[in-house]
Amino acid sequence: MSFLEDHFDIRAAVAKLCSRFDGAYWRGCDRDRRYPAEFVSALSEAGFLSVLIPEEFGGSGLGLGAASAILEEIHASGGNGAAAHAQMYTMGTLLKHGSQEQKAAFLPKIASGELRLQAFGVTEAASGTDTTRIQTRADKVGGTYVIRGSKVFISRAEHSDLMVLLARTSPREEGRKPSDGLSVFLVDMAAAKSQGMRITPLRTMMNHATTEITFDDVPIPASALIGEEGKGFRYILDGMNAERILIASECIGDARWFLDKASQYASDREVFGRPIGQNQGIQFPLARAYTQMRAAALMVREAAALFEEGKPCGSEANMAKLLASEASWAAGDTTLQTYGGAGFAEDYDVERKFRETRLYQVAPISTNLILSHVATHILGLPKSF
Ligand SMILES: Cc1cc2nc3c(=O)[nH]c(=O)nc-3n(C[C@H](O)[C@H](O)[C@H](O)COP(=O)(O)OP(=O)(O)OC[C@H]3O[C@@H](n4cnc5c(N)ncnc54)[C@H](O)[C@@H]3O)c2cc1C
Repeated sequence: MSFLEDHFDIRAAVAKLCSRFDGAYWRGCDRDRRYPAEFVSALSEAGFLSVLIPEEFGGSGLGLGAASAILEEIHASGGNGAAAHAQMYTMGTLLKHGSQEQKAAFLPKIASGELRLQAFGVTEAASGTDTTRIQTRADKVGGTYVIRGSKVFISRAEHSDLMVLLARTSPREEGRKPSDGLSVFLVDMAAAKSQGMRITPLRTMMNHATTEITFDDVPIPASALIGEEGKGFRYILDGMNAERILIASECIGDARWFLDKASQYASDREVFGRPIGQNQGIQFPLARAYTQMRAAALMVREAAALFEEGKPCGSEANMAKLLASEASWAAGDTTLQTYGGAGFAEDYDVERKFRETRLYQVAPISTNLILSHVATHILGLPKSF
């Protein structure tokens, strides 16, 4: 497919690595809700998780397009990058806003995989998408901040040595804007656990290693603060753009996997004496889903190119995520229909990928919130909240 010619060598290398982790591997992890540790180690050892870290800190210093290609290929192989993708981009907050000491201390170890920075703690049960209303507080007491509150749906916390945490350091009402007074911390998970941070696994409809975390007056050193106190919301926005673009790439990979599978199945499966794929009732939804995927891929590449150039890309990242998550869902839905009853049998992996790709219309940001952004920030319509 011509649209796959960017980062050709990287794509080929990722596809080769992924061929060691077949459907049976992913089904086993899914069935047992087991973290795919072997797959994550293989990616890390091959250097695929440190591509965005500059060479001076031990990474390969590539752009977001390379990271997109890696995640897209993982998903196109039938695997799932969610167990590892945060190791690629969560360090962006540290890289852009951390001090020289913090960068020198952590980035080389993150690049080598010695330190896993896989957890990003933003969401809370009470505030939901309304991030400026989070209630987790970080109160400065001498040389420490004391963390109190709880987070929900914090993925990979049990498989992380470090977590980027968003907490309030001054009341919402005291800021000029609601987003003032939020700060970002780099939390040492082992130290925080020994001081009362509790992680509770949260079983979800797919294998995602997500958790609830509670902080019961957990002290962390003041040196854990990234950048300036009170400016954390702005710091995490950049990282969120990268996350949205990369997750959109995973959706493109999912759509490719679904459409490859469905096209093959529709050509092989014979009913009424001919391949089901000969019927336009089967062909057209697949062709439409393919077209949707190609259009979404263009938006993902545009967003990644803007990000790489350091240009504003919030709207493009959002639109890429919206279009790609809808394209992968359309591909998944039509693939399930194409497989008929077989689509529901675990052995074909269709039902697993169907569950997995549904997430991306909700997380890391839901479709309605993106539509609201487009309506108000691009079309200039009045704000509804
Ligand atoms: C498996 C999984 C993993 C996750 N991992 C992480 C993680 O690692 N770190 C982290 O911080 N978070 C994580 N999240 C949280 C995720 O980012 C949120 O679930 C997501 O942003 C939606 O927020 P919410 O669940 O609070 O929904 P809510 O904010 O409660 O919204 C519920 C629904 O209402 C809609 N809605 C809300 N307000 C409006 C409005 N004004 N107009 C129209 N519609 C509206 C939303 O679009 C949504 O569909 C994860 C979630 C899941 C399910």
